[in-house]
Amino acid sequence: MTNFDTVIGLEIHVALLTESKFLCSCKTSFGAPPNSQCCPVCLGLPGTLPLINEKAVEYGAKAGLALGCEIHYFSRFDRKNYFYPDLPKAYQITQDAFPLCTNGFLEYYVDDQLFRTEITRIHLEEEAGKLIHSGQSIVDSEYSLVDYNRAGIPLIEIVTAPDIHHPKQARLFLEQLRLLMRYIGVSDTKMEEGSLRCDANISLKPKGSSVLGTKVEIKNLNSFRALERALEYEELRQSQVLSGGGVVRQESRTWDERAGKTMSMRSKGDAPDYRIFPEPDLPPLNLDPVWVELIAANVPELPLARLRRLERDYGLSRYDATFLVNYPEFCELFFQVAERGLGYEDVVNFLMGDYARLAREKGHLSAERISELLTLVDEGTISQGQAKEVLSSLFSSGLSPREIVQERGLEVVDDPGRLEPVIREVLAANPDLVRRLQDGETKLYSFFVGQVMRATQGKADPEVVHKLLRGELGK
Ligand SMILES: [Zn+2]
Repeated sequence: MTNFDTVIGLEIHVALLTESKFLCSCKTSFGAPPNSQCCPVCLGLPGTLPLINEKAVEYGAKAGLALGCEIHYFSRFDRKNYFYPDLPKAYQITQDAFPLCTNGFLEYYVDDQLFRTEITRIHLEEEAGKLIHSGQSIVDSEYSLVDYNRAGIPLIEIVTAPDIHHPKQARLFLEQLRLLMRYIGVSDTKMEEGSLRCDANISLKPKGSSVLGTKVEIKNLNSFRALERALEYEELRQSQVLSGGGVVRQESRTWDERAGKTMSMRSKGDAPDYRIFPEPDLPPLNLDPVWVELIAANVPELPLARLRRLERDYGLSRYDATFLVNYPEFCELFFQVAERGLGYEDVVNFLMGDYARLAREKGHLSAERISELLTLVDEGTISQGQAKEVLSSLFSSGLSPREIVQERGLEVVDDPGRLEPVIREVLAANPDLVRRLQDGETKLYSFFVGQVMRATQGKADPEVVHKLLRGELGK
């Protein structure tokens, strides 16, 4: 975008991982039979009264604290009125004028550069139900089914300031936000199950201008890839409209994944009037500062702090540290194995290699097993290649690494007395090649080392074999 600056803001909905819903005691588990987790309260039947789930407030505050927000001891609920079949009460309970948290921020890396995005506010609200269309979309469907299991699950809506400037930056922000939510344990943030959803606002302004352009809201961004692609598409579309002397319409657009483009949904004039007013059935929240202190004390080490600690205290590269930060289970193992006096980089390399693939299929090994295996390599009992073999049987057998080594007779043979006869045999079997090597074709050394390795089923120490070969051939 040569002539324009791009301005992006995000609104993220995060479903909170509470056992029961926000305002009633219905279960929240995903995948239950349709309409099996509903009650008169979340169905909005007349005469029912909501009751606030304390855990949802705790999780909302915890998210705010992890994002450096100001937590408001006083906050209030409002009714947002609109008519749609996924909303049984015909209003959503949310926080409008007095949200739970304001003024936070999130820091994250984009290509090794640290960025900071301001969080304007975080508020609590309830989830709507889910419509299941008979066709591909509501427009080409004969009928739609409605499932209210999701209605009333607690959500937080996180709103950023419009200070994101590239589609890729938006994606990396969202990835870091998701990681943070997982670290603090308030949500499982599965985009494919809808427990993390994102809408994006994007506008363009002439380069360097301080006046914001007309913004377009993009909905239906169901993956990180969709977010980045939709923003790239919209950035290009708006710059073409503006470069052609046109005007960008203020509207909501939806992202069509298959077509790879955004489509107009409704313009500003069609925006509903929500007639928001204070919720009469719920008292305002008045949080005890001591309670908030306790929540703050329970915020664990966050991803960025962990990344810095891994780089600083363990000397890991950004690449290695990022791997561990992104996969907390691997990181936990790293800390446990590293404690046992093994080289930090050896431990990460091991975890990132074949181990990662096997652990994802079959579950993790204990730190004890891993350190035993790495120690066997470290002390030279087995080679790297043999370690791979031991590793794959570790996942299936109940034996320890040492037991597997013994059982299979795996060990590095570096005793010249055992290797020399094998070497002589290999040389005797290849007289032509021996002559060529002696005539100066030294790359044949690796051929002979390979032959000796084969003859010893990979047990020979290749360095020792190389040395012995040189002795034997007088070079
Ligand atoms: Zn209910």
